[in-house]
Amino acid sequence: MKKTTIFNIQKFSTHDGPGIRTTIFFKGCPIRCEWCHNPESQVFAPEIMLNKYGKEELIGKEYSIRELVKKIQADQIFYDQSGGGVTFSGGEVMAQNMDYVLPLAKECQRLGITVAIDTCGVAPTENYRQILPYADLFLYDLKFIDSHTHQLYTGANNQLVLDNLRFLSAQQAEINLRLILLDEINADEVAANRIIDWLAEEEIHVNEISLLPYHNFGRDKYERLKRICTQNFSKPADEQVAMIQKRYQDAGYRVTIGG
Ligand code: SF4
Repeated sequence: MKKTTIFNIQKFSTHDGPGIRTTIFFKGCPIRCEWCHNPESQVFAPEIMLNKYGKEELIGKEYSIRELVKKIQADQIFYDQSGGGVTFSGGEVMAQNMDYVLPLAKECQRLGITVAIDTCGVAPTENYRQILPYADLFLYDLKFIDSHTHQLYTGANNQLVLDNLRFLSAQQAEINLRLILLDEINADEVAANRIIDWLAEEEIHVNEISLLPYHNFGRDKYERLKRICTQNFSKPADEQVAMIQKRYQDAGYRVTIGG
């Protein structure tokens, strides 16, 4: 029986796509964003983390497809009433075993549950091609247009991120872009203009842009995982975020803040 490791299942989520959703957090991510507030999502295997009371806790539990579908289906009435569904997040769902993810998505579709894919874009294009018929929406992270900067802060260049975004757009996928904003790094008009210009040049279709100002909520988790936290970022000022929002709106995008 195929199993995969999940580190969290969040019910009644309202930030990971439309309506009321269940968000499934797959464990394992191919990159290492310095600002990551879920460092327990990065390693693929289950691992020990101290809880808030200093006790060891195993993070990551294996689920069969059937077990996971049962969890997802339990709240179907709320999805139906609110226009919600399930969101596969992580970690990185598109870097998981597709022999698990595909039948899971297919089963959700068969049950009439819409599927959103929350992705950093660093996974084989073939995986996106395969999930496309079963995915209703992609929540797609675009961190930096400059590949060197992407490498510096995530440990990976952005070739696949840009390629997969071009691919999904060309396939007419529904895409909501998610943009992390880090003060003094990319929370400015220059970085916004670069993204706007690139999207226009590449003729990328996006439904909506979500601006995600950096927050430091997950910092204590690094210590609880016995890892060193190298985060040295600040949250951009509200006026700065409003200015960036306006820049994207002026370019014709619908923009939300947070999520
Ligand atoms: S892509 Fe997401 S889960 Fe992976 S390291 Fe970056 S922030 Fe963390």
